[in-house]
Amino acid sequence: MKIAIDGPAGAGKSTMARTLAAKLGYLYIDTGAMYRALALKALRATLNLNDPQELLDLALHTQICFEPDHQQQKVICDGLDVTEAIRSPEVSSVVSQVAAHPDLRKQMVIMQRDMASNHSVVMDGRDIGECVLPDADYKFYVTASLQERAQRRIRELQANGYEVNEEEIKKDIENRDYTDSHREVGALKILPDSIIIDTSDLTIEEAVAKILSFIEGAQK
Ligand code: C5P
Repeated sequence: MKIAIDGPAGAGKSTMARTLAAKLGYLYIDTGAMYRALALKALRATLNLNDPQELLDLALHTQICFEPDHQQQKVICDGLDVTEAIRSPEVSSVVSQVAAHPDLRKQMVIMQRDMASNHSVVMDGRDIGECVLPDADYKFYVTASLQERAQRRIRELQANGYEVNEEEIKKDIENRDYTDSHREVGALKILPDSIIIDTSDLTIEEAVAKILSFIEGAQK
């Protein structure tokens, strides 16, 4: 069973996907974390984020994997635990620029398909239903209002000790939404077979229950 969850930044996809995977006993693959890990490595190596060849080389020479860690999941990049570092505002502000390069994406899609092969998975991102798992059994498009997404992101950053400016967070989300939905390859979009879930007024548990009700056939 393959479940694809796509949607814009801050819609609650990752928490929902992780909870859903735990409930179903499936593997959870957070593809956003993979792009974030690449962006972090590119920043630390002061690569030119507009150079497609440098970024393709980066993708070809980076090992990313996930390790179970209580309720969460650790993100390991080249043997280093980058779970927290990839959530920094610096990484958030450049990750879409890194993820926009078609050759880098091709490489990431290969890596992600490989991770999903021979497993039942819940995978979340932007291009999962269209590019990574086009034959997924279920494709969900999870969204929420910009206001709600910004508030969730602010709460998450504050919980991790960051000082936040509401306007800057909103701008960052709007910029990422724009770049992620207007790029050449793997753009975020609602597919003809997407099931749309608006989480603006739902708790994570309610949103997960809604997804489960589709999977279990109650709403078909
Ligand atoms: O899911 P998250 O918001 O952490 O993703 C961070 C960024 O990674 C997105 O804004 C997008 O630019 C990129 N991404 C992507 N394709 C995916 C997942 C994430 O381009 N499948």
